[in-house]
Amino acid sequence: SGMFRKLWQSGMIALARSRRVRNFAQHSRATSFLSGKYVSGETPAAGIKRAQELLAGNGIRSSLFYMGEYVDDWDLVTQNIDNKLDVAARLGQAGLDVHVSVDPTQIGHHLDPDVVAGHAERIAKAVQAAVGNKGGVNCLMFDMEDASLNDPTIAVHNRMQDMGLPVALTLQAYLRRTRQDLQAQIARGSRVRLVKGAFAAPPDIAFTKRADIKANSRALIGDMLSQQARENGFYPIIATHDTALQDFTIETARANGWAAGDYEFEMLLGVREDVAKALAAKGERVRLYVPFGRDWWPHAARRIGENPANAMLLMRSLFS
Ligand code: FAD
Repeated sequence: SGMFRKLWQSGMIALARSRRVRNFAQHSRATSFLSGKYVSGETPAAGIKRAQELLAGNGIRSSLFYMGEYVDDWDLVTQNIDNKLDVAARLGQAGLDVHVSVDPTQIGHHLDPDVVAGHAERIAKAVQAAVGNKGGVNCLMFDMEDASLNDPTIAVHNRMQDMGLPVALTLQAYLRRTRQDLQAQIARGSRVRLVKGAFAAPPDIAFTKRADIKANSRALIGDMLSQQARENGFYPIIATHDTALQDFTIETARANGWAAGDYEFEMLLGVREDVAKALAAKGERVRLYVPFGRDWWPHAARRIGENPANAMLLMRSLFS
């Protein structure tokens, strides 16, 4: 099953990238139920509405993500930025956490890496303006894409942080370099979201076995919830649906003097929401990554790829 899982995941990553499949999927009624599962809707208003419902119903917070990933012209970059600015303002008006996630490629990395910092700065300033005097957990969260984006993403995050802007960084447990990257962020007193990684990379730079990625996740969680990290004002965000890692997080936190709410769990909309609700009910701080927009296929395809049980679901929808 390990073999099948790997094939399935890499197959779906390829399908997530295919323009032709994307055009088909996003316009097909057969696959539209998949967008309903992993995506809140097409508009910013739909994303905000879902965020309000999650908070009112379950005390679960949100990070809004406008899906516009495969950017290859400046109009799309502008559209993506405007969307993030709009959402930050709306979140502030709605009294919700002003928490938006951004992929560097959405704001122009592939067109010209030098423009990313300026664009990120505009969005981070909009977040800061929308927050008012609330401070706290509000931020522009940098998602982490494939390994070619590691250094540029970290550099932009650090630059924004040095300007005093509210930013946070995603690091991935599948990469061998992450232990060191994390140490540097702990020293900076940053906010870091730890994920396993939704990309594949060769064994010289990455752990490729699930067990090794999980073992590295534990080591990294240990660092994130160490007493040292707490003293530095570091803010840990553990983003996983893996309940063993969640339990390990809580155990480590308590052992080192972190209370619930001094750190947070983050999960994806549509994935194991029962687990998210149970954590929130226990008093843990929980956030869901809430995507919205019309360009939903790449995001949904990766989510489908993470769960082989989705294979049958997808096949049935395509061939029924
Ligand atoms: P897994 O071991 O994959 O899953 C744990 C359990 O959850 C398993 O039982 C599994 O079956 C179940 N599960 C997992 N996914 C699904 C699903 N889709 N449907 C049903 N059950 C499922 N990756 C990046 O590379 N860069 C990012 O910036 C990034 N941001 C993220 C932000 C958030 C908030 C989250 C939660 C994830 C993010 N990811 C990102 C994805 C992450 O890297 C993993 O690919 C993904 O979270 C799956 O790993 P897992 O830790 O949940 O554990």
